Amino acid sequence: MEIGKTARAAVTKKNQQGFFEIRMESIGGLGANVAGKILAEAGVLGMGLNGSNFSSYGSEKKGAPVKAHVRLCEPETPIRNNSPIENPHILAIFHEALIKTVPVMQGVGPESVVILNTTKSSTEAREMLKFHGGYLGCLDAMGIAMVENSRANIPMLGAICKASGFLDPDALRGTIKNVFGRKYPQSVPGNLKAFDRGYHEVKIEHFPPDERYPYQPFVRNPSRLGYLNQPMGGIVVSAGASKEKDLSPSRTGFIPVLNLETCTHCGECDYACPDYCFVWAKGVTKTGKEAIFLRGIDYQYCKGCLQCVWICKPKALSIGKESDYDVEGITVPHPFKEKLTK
Ligand code: SF4
Ligand code: SF4
Repeated sequence: MEIGKTARAAVTKKNQQGFFEIRMESIGGLGANVAGKILAEAGVLGMGLNGSNFSSYGSEKKGAPVKAHVRLCEPETPIRNNSPIENPHILAIFHEALIKTVPVMQGVGPESVVILNTTKSSTEAREMLKFHGGYLGCLDAMGIAMVENSRANIPMLGAICKASGFLDPDALRGTIKNVFGRKYPQSVPGNLKAFDRGYHEVKIEHFPPDERYPYQPFVRNPSRLGYLNQPMGGIVVSAGASKEKDLSPSRTGFIPVLNLETCTHCGECDYACPDYCFVWAKGVTKTGKEAIFLRGIDYQYCKGCLQCVWICKPKALSIGKESDYDVEGITVPHPFKEKLTK
């Protein structure tokens, strides 16, 4: 379908206000913001619906949690609600590591469809999400994006389109062509293929609520700091928080993989790494001298920027697809973490 040629399509599910609502939980860099815009544009220009979208993210952008919200409704329904989506019809989780740090499942009811970017089976994913019951679709969006030279957002769009039951895949294809064709025309065929694969490869299963996990209601977190209690000068009062920080949700599917056999312990990776991921320990050289040796990577702090890979001249570091590794299993924890737990 060409953009601009509208074809009225009935919104099949609506909340009390008449909206079909989609919430995307993502991290900066995976394209949830763009995905929200494409969905709303396809709904309005491609299908003749009424729609709105907006995203919320912090100043960090890449690597920080991002939420994108999309509302669609019949053209005669006015949209005067610009608040975050609390009870989505579709929840799309762009990175499974978010489950550890963000309460992504809040407000997801038994009629909602959850789309998760993962290589896990839906049964494993249900356990991981502590999903009380509803529809769950798993998709290896990252794997598709890597093969098709796209980003995870496009196969996720394909899966969202399928899960909606009323969004027209041709309207979304037309919008993808339009959005990418303007700036990056060479990326259009790969993105269209990634979209089609997302649409066809997502597997949606129903898990009836069985009391194993409770429903998680949506809770608005009041701001802990405001004009009444904020420390003067924006001082950070929770010193040492960086030790507890988990940067794994910032990764976009790749990790540095260390081969100690070829490592010369030169230390250049440590200079390049912005997040103190490399773990060193004292040892003895072949000639009996005391020296510092690289022991491994603490992936809790690794955001996957891969600067260390580019700088490693002996090629002891290489790029690995995160889902191919047991990241916890190959993590070498920093010794200071033992003190943290005591
Ligand atoms: S830059 Fe490469 S060779 Fe040097 S310490 Fe790091 S991993 Fe080893
Ligand atoms: S990819 Fe390398 S440089 Fe980047 S955070 Fe991870 S260990 Fe550090």
